[in-house]
Amino acid sequence: MEPALARLALAHGTGEHAKGTVKDVSATRIVVETAQGDRTFNVTPRTKFVKRGAAVNSRDVLSGDRVVVHGVNVSGALEATDVRAADSVPSRHAK
Ligand SMILES: [Zn+2]
Repeated sequence: MEPALARLALAHGTGEHAKGTVKDVSATRIVVETAQGDRTFNVTPRTKFVKRGAAVNSRDVLSGDRVVVHGVNVSGALEATDVRAADSVPSRHAK
């Protein structure tokens, strides 16, 4: 694992994390409606999309899907690193 990825993994819990419902999604950004309000993340070619355990692309994640998005702050903008959509949110994210 390269150092940057190791740091990202260790940062989980203190990094950017949003759990909620997709309000809007495109090839360049995703808006998640969370209990704390809307969160907007930029989507980049590096953003990983996973739906029900399978790798997909941004077009397969739809408005209304329940998602967990992890991101990093890049020059003041949130950049999504991974977007995980599912029928039910993984239990480790329940709280
Ligand atoms: Zn998380």
